[in-house]
Amino acid sequence: MKKEDLRHQLFIDGASAFHSVRPDIARQHPELLDAYVCPLCLGAFPESALATRPPRLTIEHVPPRNQSGPFLKLLTCHSCNSRAGTELDSHLDRRTRLRRIGAPGAPAERIQISLAGEHLQGQLYHDEKAGAPRFEVSGRFNDPISLDRVITALRKPGNWEAQAQSVVSYNKRRVRVALLRVGYLVAFAELGYSYAFTTNLEPIRAQIQQPKEDLLPGPFLLRNGYTVELDRFDGRAFLESTTEPRCIAVAINGESIFLPARGGDSAALYTELDQRPEPIPMTFRVLDGWPTRPAYRTDST
Ligand SMILES: [Zn+2]
Repeated sequence: MKKEDLRHQLFIDGASAFHSVRPDIARQHPELLDAYVCPLCLGAFPESALATRPPRLTIEHVPPRNQSGPFLKLLTCHSCNSRAGTELDSHLDRRTRLRRIGAPGAPAERIQISLAGEHLQGQLYHDEKAGAPRFEVSGRFNDPISLDRVITALRKPGNWEAQAQSVVSYNKRRVRVALLRVGYLVAFAELGYSYAFTTNLEPIRAQIQQPKEDLLPGPFLLRNGYTVELDRFDGRAFLESTTEPRCIAVAINGESIFLPARGGDSAALYTELDQRPEPIPMTFRVLDGWPTRPAYRTDST
């Protein structure tokens, strides 16, 4: 499907889902009758917002495009989408790069090693032929005297110890909020406006909009420790707990974002999760794999 057609279809589906749950708003504000409401800032946009340059409503990929797919595609406003790119997704991207350094298929990354009292800059990458990570030092970026000293030290028999440090760094808080945003958008796409626009989800939106602040009372991102068969879904799924505390969980690559259950209280959920040991002893059932388009399951469209 062409990008313009997809945007249009997402607009129609979203506007129709919103009005099925908020007919009162449409009556009081007829200008919103054919509007799409951004799930993050709750801003209402008319269809003409698709045609402006740049469009005020944009297709957002969840998780962000620098991660691996499959991707959920949905509409968010240009402002929410581009802010997340710089404030949140860039940190998630850097964490992924850092975790993959030296892995097959990963790009070469600049790292610094400390060896024999010298610091050397080099590239670390996966050598396909050797089937192992390889560190390459170029004379261009390093002091030739330091290089000589290291080579001399390496020629001596015995063990030597090196410390490696990447020049890539990220902010842990921003990564957590980037993943909270991923979880929120997946839950919105699955369950719709009638779930996302309840007061229990307000603190979550506030946390996403203010990533620098510590707004939620406990952990909302935890390692997957529960027993549910995720292999079938490539480790990514939309889950619901079948034991206390009742909650929604969005599992993505070994981590889960926890959100309040339908009708649940976010403050109570995060306070309770805070008291649980990791990995968490809870039972879940899979409600869906990774959505690629919004389903708005609890909105009657
Ligand atoms: Zn927005």
